[in-house]
Amino acid sequence: MRPVTERDIRTSFVNCSKGEAKRLGVPKDLADLPWEDLDFLGWRDPGAPGRAYLLAEREGPLVGIALRVTSGASRGFTARSMCSLCLTMHTSGGVTLMTARRTGEAGRQGNSVGQYLCTDLACSLYTRGKKEAAGGGAIDESLTLEEKVARTRANLYSFLDKVVG
Ligand SMILES: [Zn+2]
Repeated sequence: MRPVTERDIRTSFVNCSKGEAKRLGVPKDLADLPWEDLDFLGWRDPGAPGRAYLLAEREGPLVGIALRVTSGASRGFTARSMCSLCLTMHTSGGVTLMTARRTGEAGRQGNSVGQYLCTDLACSLYTRGKKEAAGGGAIDESLTLEEKVARTRANLYSFLDKVVG
């Protein structure tokens, strides 16, 4: 995706209030991020452990999604779970259930969408083999890099559709 500024981020959120978008913690190292390897920018709020954010560029406009991190019960150290975006297998703690409030009337009625995501939101880097999951790893498959990237993006867009749709 193209590099974005703090202002781009704060004006892109679709499922939280303007005040919340103004206050949320943005990554400090925006200029140094590997933008060409990112399908989306995902980060945990440095000042609020229960919050995470995802910023995607979809055919031009940026879409920012605020997420609640569900700490939940651990399934034990040996349990492995899979991220629903990049399909990377992680051991306990590497995948977290995150929920996004839906936009519009559905959101006002309290509807949200939950997804199991890489806890560090580095799906783009796992997809490209630039980051390895501790004790987990990519599932054994014969897709090319382009096919894997296309799949991660398709999963991301279907998640965005559920939030915005
Ligand atoms: Zn992932």
